[in-house]
Amino acid sequence: MTTHVFHRTPVRPAIATEARGIEITDETGKVYIDGSGGAAVSCIGHGDMRVVEAIAKQAATVEYAHTGAFTSPPAEELAEVLCNATTLPMARVFLVGSGSEAVETAVKMARGYHLARGDEGRFRVIARRQSYHGNTLGALARGGNFGRRAPYLPMMTEAHLVDPCFEYRHALPGETPETYGRRAADSLEAEILRLGPETVSAFLVETVVGATTGAVPPAPGYFARIREICDRHGILLIADEVMCGVNRCGPFFAIEDEGVCPDIVTLGKGLGGGYQPIAAAMCTAAVHDAFSDVGRSFINGHTYMAHPVACAAALAVQQVIRDDGLAERVAPMGTYLKQRLEARFGNHPYVGDIRGQGLFQAIEIVADRNSKTPFPATEAMASRIFAACRDIGLLCYPGSGTADGTIGDHLLVAPPYSVTTAEIDTIVERLGDGVDAGLA
Ligand code: PMP
Repeated sequence: MTTHVFHRTPVRPAIATEARGIEITDETGKVYIDGSGGAAVSCIGHGDMRVVEAIAKQAATVEYAHTGAFTSPPAEELAEVLCNATTLPMARVFLVGSGSEAVETAVKMARGYHLARGDEGRFRVIARRQSYHGNTLGALARGGNFGRRAPYLPMMTEAHLVDPCFEYRHALPGETPETYGRRAADSLEAEILRLGPETVSAFLVETVVGATTGAVPPAPGYFARIREICDRHGILLIADEVMCGVNRCGPFFAIEDEGVCPDIVTLGKGLGGGYQPIAAAMCTAAVHDAFSDVGRSFINGHTYMAHPVACAAALAVQQVIRDDGLAERVAPMGTYLKQRLEARFGNHPYVGDIRGQGLFQAIEIVADRNSKTPFPATEAMASRIFAACRDIGLLCYPGSGTADGTIGDHLLVAPPYSVTTAEIDTIVERLGDGVDAGLA
């Protein structure tokens, strides 16, 4: 079959013809188990008719009305549902179409907050190495995914990146997780002081680091210290929960477990659950109320933002999560998944780490299990294992952190919250076979 689609992959991928529950079928009739919900997107499973019906109903009512003149019942209701879903005191929701847009919105919101307060010198955003915040040039410039940034470096504004808090890799001999967490956080303060606090607008950080590294949870105490540092220097804290939010790690936002409140938090992926493209940047009342004139200090908007059909889909996804008690399943199913991964890979010579939170788990592939030395980037281990898994009917999400040589490849396992123990068994069994075949 010839194609006119400009695919992101070198060869035309398989054609998806049906998606139901945790399975996707291709044009040859081959059935794949979707062990990562795409890129941690599918949270209630595929083909849920409750969401499909909500989409159809909204499309037949108001399919589009420009946000310069209109809001819509689903947009208003969704914002309320999201503010109530989290224990964080979030007061306003800016609805957009993708995680990258949500991050760009958050960064502009922080800048707008400082501008509105007459603090014009604050524009810098500090982020972390080995982070990922999106693929638009602005979001890419803020992230530490060296592979994705490489071709576009000359076009991007300067990045200010501090070390991530990957205790398992960077802790010094004798450091406890707590002392390590403090030291990692203090690298932020050093960078703020180096740049000049009066120039720094925000610190942008994934709570549980996803796409670049594979489900790395924060060191204990890290976020409490980060919050103190940001407050001390008048810097806003932006938690990017596009991947780890919407109950993927258990609580609505993973950062709820850290006992601190960010000023702005982004969400995407699981918000639409795959049914519609939708994402958001949420902020506290203190951030929102600082804007005396939203149109001047915070200029932002997208043609399809707060799209009524997308909002209706996200509302229906939230309803399904509540009706089916899916958020409550994440912790026990996550524990089961981790146990199965540990049983299968705990002694595997090429698995250096098994980590994650809730239904956001990953295995790290290394050349040597003891030293945790990564494979060279040229080996493309994650892609090879991904391909081997796909061939035996498992979809997982590969990531290669080896571009700067500091971390191994990883495979992310992030099934829908409705996943059963039997399905987890199948995922782990196929992942084991896929790892062995990919490494062979
Ligand atoms: N932030 C994080 C933490 C992400 O994981 C991603 C996507 N992997 C994005 C932002 C960008 O989202 P999108 O691909 O929807 O633009």
